[in-house]
Amino acid sequence: PTAMREVFLETPKVRWSDIGGQHDIKKRLQQAVERPLKYPQRMKRLNVKSKKGVLLYGPPGCSKTLMVKALATEAGLNFLAVKGAEILSMYVGESERSLREIFRKARAARPSIVFFDEIDAIAARRSSSSGGVNLLTTLLNEMDGIEELRNVLVIAATNKPDVLDPALMRPGRLDNILYIGPPDFEARREILRIWANMSVVNPEVDLDKLASLTEGHSGAEIVSICETAGDAALDDEEETQQEQDVQWKHFEYALAQVRRQITDT
Ligand code: ATP
Repeated sequence: PTAMREVFLETPKVRWSDIGGQHDIKKRLQQAVERPLKYPQRMKRLNVKSKKGVLLYGPPGCSKTLMVKALATEAGLNFLAVKGAEILSMYVGESERSLREIFRKARAARPSIVFFDEIDAIAARRSSSSGGVNLLTTLLNEMDGIEELRNVLVIAATNKPDVLDPALMRPGRLDNILYIGPPDFEARREILRIWANMSVVNPEVDLDKLASLTEGHSGAEIVSICETAGDAALDDEEETQQEQDVQWKHFEYALAQVRRQITDT
């Protein structure tokens, strides 16, 4: 009996509009997918091959996963997600089999995206052998299976690009390398606004000020601040037995609770 976990096709429902900021990244991802589908003739004329792979790197909680899900939703692509650590944890030989199976499914479901989160778990430098050599080789072989990968986009994400085996980033593999950094002021304001639009935030709350105060926080932390503020408002509701909106004092409380993990060490 095999312990191989099934990898299912997912249908993410994330839209571009759910992601604050990062407009440049959104556009580049869109192009990587849309060009080959919309303008194959133009690409052929200029001798430009379609991109097979994208590597997203940057600090945790800054929308890498969100981006890939939005791309799949907005472009109408099937989506397979795999966590590096999950594959690595399988029995010897099973990881490789599972990896090949994932690509088989992706080809059967094209146009599709295969998303490898924590790619560093399966594609670390060959020298730093963790028994993952065969896995890396399998991954490279699958990616090199050229024609067959048409309309399958491989996207990988990592917080540790420096440990990746350089072979992975060679032309024709994950050669479209994009950095997704912490949200800038504009992005933070958008993240706050997106959350506020789905909640009931008191009009006295100055989102610009909040955007300034959250400098250095990841997107995930900003959402966490909002939810902590929301929780504080719920506490008030319970205490007063009256409906509350989320007020400045709640955000102040939340700001003190949520630590910056990107810039603090
Ligand atoms: P990790 O490296 O830890 O996997 P990640 O970069 O893939 O992190 P996501 O999973 O995309 O991060 O983001 C985590 C959560 O943070 C999201 O589900 C979302 O709630 C929030 N978030 C992060 N960035 C943004 C953003 N720009 N706009 C809206 N929400 C965001």
